[in-house]
Amino acid sequence: MEKILTHPVDELLASFSAASLPLSQALCISSHLERCAACHQKVQRLNGLGSELMQQLKPSPASSELKERMINRLDILTQETHARPQETHVSSVPRCLQQFIQTGYDKLPWRRVSPDIHNYELCRDSNGAKVELLRIKAGGSPTTHTHMGDEYTVILEGSFSDETGLYHQGDFLVRDARHKHTPVASQDRECICLAVTEGPIQFTGFFSRLLNPFVRRSYT
Ligand SMILES: [Zn+2]
Repeated sequence: MEKILTHPVDELLASFSAASLPLSQALCISSHLERCAACHQKVQRLNGLGSELMQQLKPSPASSELKERMINRLDILTQETHARPQETHVSSVPRCLQQFIQTGYDKLPWRRVSPDIHNYELCRDSNGAKVELLRIKAGGSPTTHTHMGDEYTVILEGSFSDETGLYHQGDFLVRDARHKHTPVASQDRECICLAVTEGPIQFTGFFSRLLNPFVRRSYT
């Protein structure tokens, strides 16, 4: 089976730079950027291009949604300013998550999901997406779950493997319901992941075409 990408695709980085991602996805990208110098540099280049483009555009009134996104983006950028990848301590909480995690991972009120898994919900995005931490004990495996939308995962501590390969701290993974997999945390230490799952009533991409009768009619 082909190994899954461990960096955000360029389109996602461009959307992050343009502040057009939902907050939940922006938190995943930002957590990855703190660990990945290559993607960090790409975003800096995109930010430079974006500001050049902005200077060429005529001013127009911003919508309240755009303003909210810009404020969220600014919050994250402010935290990123001091977060050069080479300066990051490997065991630290990403700066963009420190607004939710002030005292480190150990003191969070973790909720037991199964003998191997604990979770802690950080927030819900305005689009319904759940932003949570998953803590998988060494050698443990999450219970199989299904979801309609995409699932974004960033490995914050430790590593895990599945049928497609071995994934390490900082890796960024996107999976949809078509990806069936059985991840297992490494035997030597626990694995902590940032996980974003889209809301159960939100259908995207391929599924939305199947489920929307008006769109489906145009394909027959
Ligand atoms: Zn990267």
